[in-house]
Amino acid sequence: MTSRGAGQRYDFRCPHCGEYVQIDADMMELLLASGCVACGGPISTEAFSNHSK
Ligand SMILES: [Zn+2]
Repeated sequence: MTSRGAGQRYDFRCPHCGEYVQIDADMMELLLASGCVACGGPISTEAFSNHSK
């Protein structure tokens, strides 16, 4: 196993198109910067829910 990062996982659900995917912190930053990969809509932090545990 690699020891890079914390391996934090998040649930992402697009408020515009309903796209749902599990992502990591790097992908979350990308979505916040670039928008939804499926519909291109703007994404805010509310679209993410933290997977604790
Ligand atoms: Zn979308």
